Amino acid sequence: MKLHFLGTGSSYPTTQRGVSATMLQHDDGSVWLFDCGEGTQIQAQKVTVSRQKITNIFITHLHGDHVFGLPGLLCTISSQLGLTEEDLKKKRPLVEIFGPLGINKLINTVLTISHSPLAFQYRVHELVPVKEQYPEDWEDTQVDVATLTPHPSELPGTRITAITDSDGNMHWLLKDDEQWDVRAGWIHHRVPSFGFVIREKDRTGTLDMKKLLTLGIKPGPMYGQLKGGNSITTEDGKTITPDMVVGPPYPGRTVVILGDTSDASPLAHLVQGCEVVVHEATFDNSLKDKALEFGHSTPLQAVAFAQSIGAKTLLLNHFSQRYVATSKDKSKNEESVALLEEQAVAALGGSLVNVQCADDFFVYDIPSQPRNMATTQQC
Ligand SMILES: [Zn+2]
Ligand SMILES: [Zn+2]
Repeated sequence: MKLHFLGTGSSYPTTQRGVSATMLQHDDGSVWLFDCGEGTQIQAQKVTVSRQKITNIFITHLHGDHVFGLPGLLCTISSQLGLTEEDLKKKRPLVEIFGPLGINKLINTVLTISHSPLAFQYRVHELVPVKEQYPEDWEDTQVDVATLTPHPSELPGTRITAITDSDGNMHWLLKDDEQWDVRAGWIHHRVPSFGFVIREKDRTGTLDMKKLLTLGIKPGPMYGQLKGGNSITTEDGKTITPDMVVGPPYPGRTVVILGDTSDASPLAHLVQGCEVVVHEATFDNSLKDKALEFGHSTPLQAVAFAQSIGAKTLLLNHFSQRYVATSKDKSKNEESVALLEEQAVAALGGSLVNVQCADDFFVYDIPSQPRNMATTQQC
């Protein structure tokens, strides 16, 4: 898996930096997009990852720097899919979109009023916030789509409500299939904001081809049976069990991607150890009061949260546009992202968390390793 940071700034895109949009590229090439701020479609054209591979989009919250780019990106993907009329008559691709209640109205309104057809279908799953997330004036915000006609490309979506466990902790269940477990947790911000916990399920180890061929087992259906955990019997009557020819399993990796927050602790119960957490650091430590006032964090807060959930690596993003990217200024002065990185490193206090400030187009690789290697990995 790889994380591709398309935009690492907050508020509005500049000529130097985009706003929030992060791609999670899976090993099979499919892509999940997290947030889609204004200008994401430009940023997305500057990377080698194909936009057409986006199968799922997750929106953390409905502030413009996280969602204004979504209708435009959907239309761009549509126009670049290169599908023929014949393709479209058959089965059209599907993009699943997850986001807070109100995301469907936003997409529907923009696509409908602009008369924008799509060459793929989409389905929106809305996370219904809990009262702890609502600002005082939230009642005045009309987020429902009950009165809207569905867009021609829209399939019926779902409403996902919070599940409360026996300890009173809440989460939203987005996916639970053979490969993935994806849950959301709420985090403090000025509007309902979520963080996503993406948990890959353990995968079967690789087949030892050399050993299989030595045993006289040629490629064929038996390989699938062994990988599926079943024993086989060869033509000469030998029984081969999976543990003889299948390597150790690959432990699933966990990635946590948060929306804007001044305190992500309500989500912490969902994570006990993860490969990487993406956390905002809008302002440096000296502007903590300003950060809190606007529902944001400093490097010090982000490190404390990463340590609380046992993250191996902390990647910071969502920097105020006052800070110049590390690729352009390494001076660590008060207007440089390098300063934020220095503050984050200083906050580590010798703990094992790796920390880095992401720059636009920064790529972070999360390798897959068999269990016996992963347990000895130094972080
Ligand atoms: Zn933001
Ligand atoms: Zn925000």
